[in-house]
Amino acid sequence: MLMPQTTLCPSSTAQEGALLLGVIGPNQSVQFLTEPEPMTTELTEAIMAIDAPETKFRFANRCVKSGCGQWHEGRCGVIDLVMSFNQHLAEPVALPACAIRSQCRWHKQTGPAACFVCPFIVTDSTQTSEEQLAYIGSNVI
Ligand code: SF4
Repeated sequence: MLMPQTTLCPSSTAQEGALLLGVIGPNQSVQFLTEPEPMTTELTEAIMAIDAPETKFRFANRCVKSGCGQWHEGRCGVIDLVMSFNQHLAEPVALPACAIRSQCRWHKQTGPAACFVCPFIVTDSTQTSEEQLAYIGSNVI
């Protein structure tokens, strides 16, 4: 069960107990929900019936640290990789509205800069190629 003090991975998979965080819009950026929607049994079944839901939605769930293949040397490797492609970015002046910021692993680890690139990240690993990362870099300037 997710508690207010639970540190959340903002790019988790579609599964019961997670939170529906946002929807990938036609411009391939995330439209965050004002309040994340708990993934009930019914919502999970409906979303799992959609082909490749992680290409269409973003989900948040408990950060499992070393239990995740992306965890590297005490850090989330996903946001570190994305930020390595975006070192030229300045600190954002305005952050996207986000209901999980106080619990977010990426924000805890990287600070507000994570929120600048976050809306451009699509969880499905087939989208997380160097080409996609370069796309992020060229679209958030
Ligand atoms: S906008 Fe920032 S706080 Fe919210 S999920 Fe993305 S990185 Fe985390």
